[in-house]
Amino acid sequence: MRVTVLGYQSPYPGPGGATPGYLLETDEVRLLIDCGSGVLAQAGKHFPIYELDALLLSHYHHDHIADIGVLQYGLMVHQLFGQRPADRPLPIYAPEAPIENVQALTYRDATRFHPVNEQTSLIIGDVKVTFLRTDHGDGDPCFAMRLESKNGVIVYGADSGPGTNWRGFAEGADLFICEGTYLDHNKPQKPNGHLSVRDAAELAESLSCSSLLVTHLFYGYPEEDVIAQAGAYQTGTCYIARIGLQIDVHKQ
Ligand SMILES: [Zn+2]
Ligand SMILES: [Zn+2]
Repeated sequence: MRVTVLGYQSPYPGPGGATPGYLLETDEVRLLIDCGSGVLAQAGKHFPIYELDALLLSHYHHDHIADIGVLQYGLMVHQLFGQRPADRPLPIYAPEAPIENVQALTYRDATRFHPVNEQTSLIIGDVKVTFLRTDHGDGDPCFAMRLESKNGVIVYGADSGPGTNWRGFAEGADLFICEGTYLDHNKPQKPNGHLSVRDAAELAESLSCSSLLVTHLFYGYPEEDVIAQAGAYQTGTCYIARIGLQIDVHKQ
């Protein structure tokens, strides 16, 4: 399994940047996880978008969904051009609320909405996907994803405050993709549905994850500060997100 970071920045893309979007490739499928601002421009560097098999959405905050409209236009046009069958709408697996976001996910023959929740277990090609609701604040669901194949386990933590119960879901993952929205100096006193870089490192260490990708970063953060504040993670390789970063995930 290979993960490619197409976007990782939040709350908005820096110059030439992109907000969250991750490409997951296996022997059988090509999945996009979240579809933030600027993700489509990055995706085109790696594969033609009409070859996408599915889109998985963690939640409906703008930094995770901003490029869905242009993805729908793109797929519609590729169907018109004959590059993607008209009877093959892209499945979008996503939470069931808010309803106005859900309604926008089915568009002509280009895309179809499929609901997910904590009881959902999807099989997409050679990947099994399950979901965990995270502590992300405002009442609408946000789901982390556990993606398993014969080659290992990737947990995408989505957006999450400190109240998420990761035990059993993320423990021992071969790669934990975890948000580090704040650095020490700008972390709010009261938890507000996000983790800091330091939190992400401590969490991955306590869960004995084999590698960690720290993501959901403000584009202007100095990389040396992010590396320093991720120092609590010692179990395996710690990656700091950047556009185009590729990680090959193997069973440990
Ligand atoms: Zn969010
Ligand atoms: Zn976010």
